[in-house]
Amino acid sequence: MEIIGPDRLGVYVHIPYCASKCQYCDFLSFAAPPDTRYLDALCAEIRSCEGLPAIDTIYIGGGTPTVLPPSFIEKIFDELFRHKVTADAEITVESNPGTLDAHMLGALKRMGVNRLSLGLQAWDNARLRQLGRIHTLEIFLKNWEAASAAGFDNINVDLMFALPGQSAEEWRETLERAAALGTAHISAYALTVEEGTPFGELKRRGMLPQVSDEDDRAMYADAKRILRDQGYEHYEISNFAKPGRYSRHNTNCWNRKNYIGFGLGAHSFIDERRYHNTADMKKYLDANGCRQCLAEDMVQLTEREAMSEFMFLGLRLVRGVSAENFKRRFGVPLARVFGAAVDKYAGMGLLMLEEDTVRLSDRGMDVANLVMSEFL
Ligand code: SF4
Repeated sequence: MEIIGPDRLGVYVHIPYCASKCQYCDFLSFAAPPDTRYLDALCAEIRSCEGLPAIDTIYIGGGTPTVLPPSFIEKIFDELFRHKVTADAEITVESNPGTLDAHMLGALKRMGVNRLSLGLQAWDNARLRQLGRIHTLEIFLKNWEAASAAGFDNINVDLMFALPGQSAEEWRETLERAAALGTAHISAYALTVEEGTPFGELKRRGMLPQVSDEDDRAMYADAKRILRDQGYEHYEISNFAKPGRYSRHNTNCWNRKNYIGFGLGAHSFIDERRYHNTADMKKYLDANGCRQCLAEDMVQLTEREAMSEFMFLGLRLVRGVSAENFKRRFGVPLARVFGAAVDKYAGMGLLMLEEDTVRLSDRGMDVANLVMSEFL
């Protein structure tokens, strides 16, 4: 898989609008019509950057970018393409069923979008209603087929498990049906119930059926087994792809390659410096594209912090962390810095040591957060 070098850059663009708010969602998104002032500020922000390295991946996420009229999305791409974008750049747009039609799909294709990410979440209309999704299964299928007919052959489908009241059979059917589409990529995330969401409130009042840890892990094991059987490569804890269809943008983030975020709350990682744009819409609009005015929580990572990130982000990838790459990057052997942590979890069967690599075992993936916390 091609990995971008220091002369390459990933770009993330945040669109914080949705048709309505899902019951579990704590993302930075609003159920409001897109505001042209936001589009103007976003375009000004993109325009304000000069001398960017060649852009190798673009990811327009949200929110639901496709609630924007195609003409808005086109303006964003016009600004992005003022910068150098490599001829083979991976260009992804996130979308939700119910916001795609032939007009939008044709426009995205003409703009150079070559990857779509569709939020399906569940293969059951009652479940979709429970989640507060705006679409039915039938609408998803119509949108997926329209996207394929429009020439999109690199489509991710997002799925969720450990949903309140979800049975193992229901989850297995979701996986089998989604895989049977032959879609290029599937992301499968366990639901996390966040405070401040309607689901969080139901949980606080004891009204949200809980999925046990054991059932949650059994569902994850089903995802790995069923998707592998259907020809998907498990390449990251929650991500599965047909050969050659890994998400380049996200893989570069896990490999700590540089990326710049535009838009409300968007995160950037450039030359070992992490920061994010303000999440306050008024501040964002008032800044009118001034990146220095938008940046918050800027941290220049120390060498030790960079080493920790190298480990816990690298361990998200199924192929694991290369000791040789660690030595090349930091000038010290991985074993000298993290030998004790690696030995501890290898001894427990949660990490595997194979020649040059350290990676999570199947059991280690079940408790990935515990293992990764050892490298902080
Ligand atoms: S569509 Fe996505 S971003 Fe929008 S409310 Fe639902 S989960 Fe949140």
